[in-house]
Amino acid sequence: MIGFADRLAEITKKIKGASIIDEDFVKEVVRDVQRALLEADVDVKLVLELSKRIEKRALEEEPPAGVPKRDYLLRIVYEELVELLGGEKTEGLDIDLSRDVNVIMLVGLYGMGKTTTAAKLARYLQRKGYRVGLVGADPYRPAAGEQLRQLAEEVDVPVHVEDVDDAVEMAVKGVEALKDECDVVIVDTAGRDRLSEDLIDELREMAERIEPHEVLLVLDATVGQKAGDHAEAFHEAVQLTGVVITKLDTAAKGGGALSAVARTGAPIKFVGTGERVDDLEEFNPRSFVARLLGIGDIDELLRRTEEMLEEEEKAEDVLEGEFTLKDLYEQLEALSKMGPVDKLLQYVPGMGGGRNVRKISQITEERLKKYKVIMDSMTEKELENPEILNKSRIRRIAIGSGTSERDVIELLNHYRMMKDVIEDIQSGRIPRIGGELGR
Ligand code: GDP
Repeated sequence: MIGFADRLAEITKKIKGASIIDEDFVKEVVRDVQRALLEADVDVKLVLELSKRIEKRALEEEPPAGVPKRDYLLRIVYEELVELLGGEKTEGLDIDLSRDVNVIMLVGLYGMGKTTTAAKLARYLQRKGYRVGLVGADPYRPAAGEQLRQLAEEVDVPVHVEDVDDAVEMAVKGVEALKDECDVVIVDTAGRDRLSEDLIDELREMAERIEPHEVLLVLDATVGQKAGDHAEAFHEAVQLTGVVITKLDTAAKGGGALSAVARTGAPIKFVGTGERVDDLEEFNPRSFVARLLGIGDIDELLRRTEEMLEEEEKAEDVLEGEFTLKDLYEQLEALSKMGPVDKLLQYVPGMGGGRNVRKISQITEERLKKYKVIMDSMTEKELENPEILNKSRIRRIAIGSGTSERDVIELLNHYRMMKDVIEDIQSGRIPRIGGELGR
């Protein structure tokens, strides 16, 4: 069956390939997102809330000028998924040095990467300056203790594997043995091949005895829809405080994690990205969702939208106050960063009508460059109020910028035309239509 991550990647592809983003299309996308989330076992109520928000935003919000509607729609889907995963911030571990000892308990089924993660976390915390110790609590697999000892040696932290055949006893004795020399003790519990009553009972009892400050569920990225059920069962027994997704370096995208988070409310705190003890990263919702959506360049997409939003705000500012040569300069600078002039004029507010507007739109890029050089030779005061320029200053500016007096005067004429247009818009003589052009 097609997985959650694949579904999201399909949606991304659909949005990217769309030629028209109208209400029908938005609704279709929202339905697709709903279906993907429901299939991933995300709570129905949550799915409805999320899809409603996506639909509302997609239909109501205007993308900033220069950002295609489909990029903006993708951004909305992305943002809402990030929100579902707990927002932009990553939650750290609850560690308090005033405690006798901080106990972190790792739970999960066999093969998920629990033992490896225990060692990775030890290294991570050790790098932060904590004294860390590892405790083995798996009496069922003799090899488990040995594996933990080797990893502890590699990370160079103390380890305790009590030689008894009771998991709870191993955990209690281990914490006891290490708590004096450690700030943080990480307990690597025993798993099972699948969820079972006795595992749940064992963990519950263990948690009651060692009173962990953090209980992290270790989930491997390949666990799909079952992740929700697993997480819930563990959560009922031992109140999860976080999730670690391992094996994100493989082809698996970890879509199941979303259901684990949605069902338990426990945030993803770390991700495992390889077999080595250094391959642990703090969870980053942005890159995780980008991966789920199958977009590698989400930051680029967001950055561009952000820039355009800023430009739009600047244009709004211009419309509010006195239009100075400095504003023109800023606009020209923005324009020259963005590309060909005709496309760019959409950013200039009110580029909708009038003879002056048509004239301004005929400014070539070469001239824009010249204007910038000229303005670089002006003083701050002159930029604020070009009316103070007299003949001799115009001559000096022309010499200073390696242009001619005619060029300077031409720029001033353009400025006056722009100023007129802006004033017309401010007084309501020309409607503000800048936003709708060129999409
Ligand atoms: P446990 O049974 O839950 O303790 O799982 P282990 O820690 O023994 O890990 C099971 C297997 O998964 C081992 O071969 C690990 O090397 C591997 N593994 C664990 N974490 C990662 C990871 O982030 N990436 C990859 N590629 N392999 C991992």
